[in-house]
Amino acid sequence: MNNYFKTIPDNKGFFKEYGGSFIPPELQTEMDKITEAYYAISKSHEFISELRSIRKHFQGRPTPVYFARTLSNEYGGRIYLKREDLNHTGAHKLNHCMGEALLAKHLGKKKLIAETGAGQHGVALATAAAYFGLECEIHMGEVDIAKEHPNVVRMNILGAKVVPVTFGLRTLKEAVDSAFGAYLADPVNSIYCIGSVVGPHPFPMMVRDFQRVVGIEAKEQFYDMTGELPDSVVACVGGGSNAMGIFSAFLDDKDTRLVGVEPAGRSLKKGDHAATITYGKPGLIHGFKCYLLQDEKGEPDPVYSIASGLDYPGVGPEHSMLKDTGRVEYTSANDKETLDAFFELSKKEGIIPALESAHAVAHAIKMAQEDPRKSILVNLSGRGDKDIDFVVENYGKEYGIEL
Ligand SMILES: *Cc1c(COP(=O)(O)O)cnc(C)c1O
Repeated sequence: MNNYFKTIPDNKGFFKEYGGSFIPPELQTEMDKITEAYYAISKSHEFISELRSIRKHFQGRPTPVYFARTLSNEYGGRIYLKREDLNHTGAHKLNHCMGEALLAKHLGKKKLIAETGAGQHGVALATAAAYFGLECEIHMGEVDIAKEHPNVVRMNILGAKVVPVTFGLRTLKEAVDSAFGAYLADPVNSIYCIGSVVGPHPFPMMVRDFQRVVGIEAKEQFYDMTGELPDSVVACVGGGSNAMGIFSAFLDDKDTRLVGVEPAGRSLKKGDHAATITYGKPGLIHGFKCYLLQDEKGEPDPVYSIASGLDYPGVGPEHSMLKDTGRVEYTSANDKETLDAFFELSKKEGIIPALESAHAVAHAIKMAQEDPRKSILVNLSGRGDKDIDFVVENYGKEYGIEL
């Protein structure tokens, strides 16, 4: 097991043929510094004990694993939820943001720069910046700003500067482009804190390592509760950080199926979904190689998902590798199935999930119906407070809610 994390990715950041670093030389110099610092600092006793203390006293970890009894009774199977919605700020993203910000502090950086889709990464990073007393600049597409208003307010209250992105589709991909540009303008004083297991080396590795806490906790908690390992572990995949976090603990447990769920959106036409691994082909985006939804010229396709945090045309290089090796199965859930699951979990268990996480819940419900003897551990990556206005305005009527 340890062997896997010491050899994957390789020293150039490759997960087999995926990942790597395809960026301008001046940026490469800065990335190399971050990589070196990460190898040196992140394994030090001081860094690890400070991060542990933050996880416990500030984030509120460990987050629980919860047996969803009513849902299991309804659909069969035994469905368990790893409650990342209870992590401070309401999603798994703070796990890597606190790690990235702690590294920034050790590197003497003054400013954290990032993109955000649903606003969850922006809020998590703004939180980390406030904790460490660093400046924070968040780039966000105008479409997402309108859709995710409460998170925009949160970022402002936390002292971050939100930069609206007004070009292209004005969603996540353009926000990454814009944030990259801002980082390139001042790579000495600032650090780019990517929001998922994507981007050039060392980010896919670093973010995975910071998210591993989810899997390490969940495996032990599940074993304590049941005396066995789960038959399946299910997580939604946008860039893939929450999925890598929980999958990483089970890679060697061959009897445990690992299932990544991508957003199949409103149809499978180009521009109507973001199921990258399921329907894409290998290509280059934002300085790394991965499965990509792309046109004949290799330009990223427009993408869409009901969950802003999942609409990215690329995906983490490690997921791309795990797709090819077959260790992880990738499937998808569409908007309708996701909304059904969103309301099911809310009404049956008293947990309003993020629309992103509801994709994983939707697939877990399908699996439970297919084989009622099996146990399923779902990574409930975040809470749905940020989504309630959007859901009720657009879909409330269909689900019997009239306000
Ligand atoms: C951002 C986000 C995701 C998608 O990101 P991954 O890197 O694929 O995990 C999933 N769930 C929630 C709640 C998010 O905020």
